[in-house]
Amino acid sequence: MSFLFDTTSDELQLEDSASASEPSFDCAPRSTASNPGSSRRSFFKMTVGGAVAGLVTATGIEFAAPRRVMAQSGLTSDAALQELMDGNRRFSTGNLTSFEHDLAMLKQKTVDKQEPFAAVLSCADSRVPVELLFDQTIGHIFVTRVAGNFAATEIIASLEYGAAVLGTKVILVLGHSNCGAVKATIQAKEVPGQISSLFSYIQPAVDQAGPNLEAATKANAKIQAALLRQSSTVISGLVKENKLKVVAGYYDLGTGVVSLLE
Ligand SMILES: [Zn+2]
Repeated sequence: MSFLFDTTSDELQLEDSASASEPSFDCAPRSTASNPGSSRRSFFKMTVGGAVAGLVTATGIEFAAPRRVMAQSGLTSDAALQELMDGNRRFSTGNLTSFEHDLAMLKQKTVDKQEPFAAVLSCADSRVPVELLFDQTIGHIFVTRVAGNFAATEIIASLEYGAAVLGTKVILVLGHSNCGAVKATIQAKEVPGQISSLFSYIQPAVDQAGPNLEAATKANAKIQAALLRQSSTVISGLVKENKLKVVAGYYDLGTGVVSLLE
C-alpha cells in the first residue's frame, strides 16, 4: 500500500478519525465563528476564510461570501452526499467557491493528515474533472479513476482504505455521458493492447440495459455501486452501521449536472 499512499500521514491504522476534536477544514469566516478555538484554528479561519470575503478579482469576478465548510468528521453520510451535490450545483451554475480557498494554507494543513469527506469512483475521461465538478479543493475528495468506472479489486481496496482508514462518509460511483469505455464495450470491436480487459467489467451493464449508450452507462454505475456494497465486507459493514453510503450518479458533459441514480 505504501506506493499508493503517503504512509507518513496515513498509516494503516483503523483509528477513528471521527473522534478528532479539531476540524481540518473549518473554513468559516471569522464573523460567523461561534467558538474561536485554538490560536492555530483562529489563524486558519482568518487566513482562509476572512481574507477572501467579498473578494473582487482583477477580472471583475465577484466571489460569494465564503460558505461554511463543515469538518469531515462531523458529517453524516447524507450531509456528505449533499455537500457533493451542492458543489455540483455551484459548478453547473458557474458559482464556484473552491478557488477562494488559500491553497498554500490547505497544503500546509493537509501535509500530515487527510480527512476527505467523500470518495468518488469516476471514469478516467478527461472531461470528468472530479474535484472541479463538485467544487471541492485539496483534501476533500478521495478519488479513484479507471476507464469505465468499475469496481476492480484494486479500486475496491482503495475505496476500502478511504472509508475504513480515512473516514469517507459517502462513495459516489460516477458514470458520464458519451463514455468511450462503455461505447467500446457495446461495439465489442477488436482493440489494441489490453484495452479489451476493461470490457468484461462493463459487459454486465450492456447485457442488462442493451446497446443504448446512456442506458448502459447508467446501468454500469448502478451495478458497480451495488458491487461495492456487496463484495466488500469493509464497505458493507460500514453501510450497515449507517456510517457510509454508496450511491451511483451520472454526469452530463453538456450541462455539467450530476444526477443521482436510484
Ligand atoms: Zn468514460
